[in-house]
Amino acid sequence: MDLIEGLMEANRRAVTQLPASRHADYPSHVHMETYAYCNAACGFCPPSTLDRKGTRMPDAPINKIIDELSEIPPFLQFRLAPYKFNEPFLDKRLPDIWRRSTNACPTPRSACSPTAPR
Ligand code: SF4
Repeated sequence: MDLIEGLMEANRRAVTQLPASRHADYPSHVHMETYAYCNAACGFCPPSTLDRKGTRMPDAPINKIIDELSEIPPFLQFRLAPYKFNEPFLDKRLPDIWRRSTNACPTPRSACSPTAPR
């Protein structure tokens, strides 16, 4: 068996075992881009070209996401990040969103990474 066939066989075995994984029914990583804006302009990042630039996510889907976070079992490894292509601290709602999110899925499973020095 050559290297490619070996890798493909390993991938087939991994996919076959997925339904047995405790992670199959829940995400391991959730991003929430609640305000699609950044006041930096890093050359490798596309915020200035995004069609959604300046768009705020309405409260209803944010609340729905937070409600659904509470369904993730506490024994699963999980990471919550309140950003994607944006600076999360420009959204004044962030402290409240973060407080409610970490209440729904406790702090050891959560992460917040500010994206740029100001
Ligand atoms: S700070 Fe982050 S989100 Fe903003 S432009 Fe740079 S890489 Fe993109």
